[in-house]
Amino acid sequence: MSKQVSVRFAPSPTGPLHIGGVRTALYNYLFAKKHQGRFIVRIEDTDQARFIPGTEEYIFNTLQWLGIEADEDPLQGGPFGPYRQSERKEQYKEYALRLVEEGKAYYAFDTPEELEAMRKRLKATRVVTPQYNAISRGMMKNSLTLPREEVEARLRSGAPYVIRIKMPHKEEIRLYDLVRGWVKVAAATLDDKVLMKSDGMPTYHLAHVVDDHLMKITHVIRGEEWLPSAPMHVLLHRYLGWEETMPQFAHLPLLLKPDGKGKLSKRDAEKHGFPLFPLTWKDPHTGEITPGFREEGYFPEALCNFLALLGWSPGRAQEVFSKEELINAFSIERIGKAGVKFDIHKAQWFNQQYLKAKPDHAIAQYLVDALKENNITCTQESALQVCRLMKERAVFPQDLWQKGRYFFIAPEVYDEKVVQTKWNKEVGEVIQAFAEAIQVLGDFQADQIKAVLMELIKAKPMKIGQVMPVIRVALTGLSTGPDLMQIIEIIGKEETSRRIQIALEKLGTQEYLSS
Ligand code: GLU
Repeated sequence: MSKQVSVRFAPSPTGPLHIGGVRTALYNYLFAKKHQGRFIVRIEDTDQARFIPGTEEYIFNTLQWLGIEADEDPLQGGPFGPYRQSERKEQYKEYALRLVEEGKAYYAFDTPEELEAMRKRLKATRVVTPQYNAISRGMMKNSLTLPREEVEARLRSGAPYVIRIKMPHKEEIRLYDLVRGWVKVAAATLDDKVLMKSDGMPTYHLAHVVDDHLMKITHVIRGEEWLPSAPMHVLLHRYLGWEETMPQFAHLPLLLKPDGKGKLSKRDAEKHGFPLFPLTWKDPHTGEITPGFREEGYFPEALCNFLALLGWSPGRAQEVFSKEELINAFSIERIGKAGVKFDIHKAQWFNQQYLKAKPDHAIAQYLVDALKENNITCTQESALQVCRLMKERAVFPQDLWQKGRYFFIAPEVYDEKVVQTKWNKEVGEVIQAFAEAIQVLGDFQADQIKAVLMELIKAKPMKIGQVMPVIRVALTGLSTGPDLMQIIEIIGKEETSRRIQIALEKLGTQEYLSS
């Protein structure tokens, strides 16, 4: 029987989750669900210097908002807990010491000054990237160079030390990545990474390898930035005797700037005015607020759908996928190698599709809430009518209010172009007559309203294109919008006439009277 698929999303609480991190979480989740596997969320908080308060909570709020539910995590626990690395400190030490005993790692006592001196020395001999490695370690203060008694004396005296992995000198490390294929690296190019720091905390490298083993992880799906250290992780699994159970790797392609030139950054998001974080984030130190997708009006389903297709291709033309459909269709084989351009317009397109697909009453509720905030009362029925009309034009729920405020408030300014090109005395007379004629209509419906207008236009005679834009601008202030007759029906008889009167007074001056 093959092993149960087990994956993990392992963020570090060193800042708010970037949208790329959200995609990693989503892919892990989809893969686990597809294979009826386990999806674990593990908090990798061993780097205390980079810890930022509030970020762990932020991570969980994000996952909850998006419906990316974990089977095991620090909040609900699980059979392989604790799921916060800082709470597993002792376990890592045990493995680090085992590696030292077996000669696969060693103690290093070098001070920061000594490390710096080593770098300088190597630079002087034209070494481009000086490293603590198979060659330079022989010149440093560690348990490979110092006499055994001195090492023991140093350890007994509580002198600070780190534990470093001992990289083999002549060896090629190979790993098969499910996205990239074979990756081969000469061990000599890798450095002797620190596995345990002087504060007794493991580094990410050791901690995640230990946890992935103990938590029975079968697939490591993570960002491409980890690919360069993956060979070393493979070696660690081997050193610890876990090669047989080592997880398979899948490194996800980078998210690129909208123009495709380089990695997507916070600066790009600021420059183009789009969010990069799932939820609004307030920096606890500076108080700076960075807007999030949720607060900008993105629906969680739309964001997941957008992110799912950002690096993975379903292999068919379909773009809109429910969560269940994504789970069924997802496969690691269809994840691309190449970096993907981050196109915010596509995210907006998805949001629009989800908005359109929502039942009218659900959308109407957004509008009713926005109206309440602006102290405007409105019946459920007219909110529904406005939503039906505006749905096609909205990308975000707040657009219903922002783009449709004229349904509730008379315009204060009028589109200048329409006024300049369409407004004249004759049209003024027609719309004045229109405002009066609709008063007698019993049934105030779009069809009847249109019939009244058509009759007036025919009697003149005039063209419809001369009159309609003027009525629209008088009622909404704008040059475009949904069906005018339906707008009039919603605004109502009295309000339509009142707005036409106001417009006639404001615009009907000599300035605009061309005849
Ligand atoms: N803690 C790492 C990060 O935040 C996780 C990398 C991994 O998934 O192995 O990027």
